[in-house]
Amino acid sequence: MRPTLRQFRTGVRKHRNQPMICPLRHRHKSKAEVKRCGELWALLGAGVIKYFVYEPHVVLADVSYKPDFFVVYKDRTEAFEEIKSPHTDKAGGRWAVIQTLWRKHAQHPLRVIHCKRGVLREDRTICPDPK
Ligand SMILES: [Zn+2]
Repeated sequence: MRPTLRQFRTGVRKHRNQPMICPLRHRHKSKAEVKRCGELWALLGAGVIKYFVYEPHVVLADVSYKPDFFVVYKDRTEAFEEIKSPHTDKAGGRWAVIQTLWRKHAQHPLRVIHCKRGVLREDRTICPDPK
């Protein structure tokens, strides 16, 4: 049976710090991810997107990275998505390295979506440098 948007909104969390299981049986890391997954599910139902994948595996140079989603639109454009809180987006470390590697080595845009007080909003798109 097709899951409903309501089911995405009430994603199951068994314990604190445990992943949240969405109606599509993904093990999400946050409520924001579950919410975005529900939005993508609605876009799929509306025919805007062809399909989407949760946590696709990407290798940038020799660094392994799993963005949150890979989305293929009806018009065949493709993009990856990373859901961040504005706070964790500012933190450097591995995420800073990934962004640099993305510009250098990736083939598709990476959309950075911020979640602030439960509201999702695209912050920016990291585009690969022209090869
Ligand atoms: Zn999901």
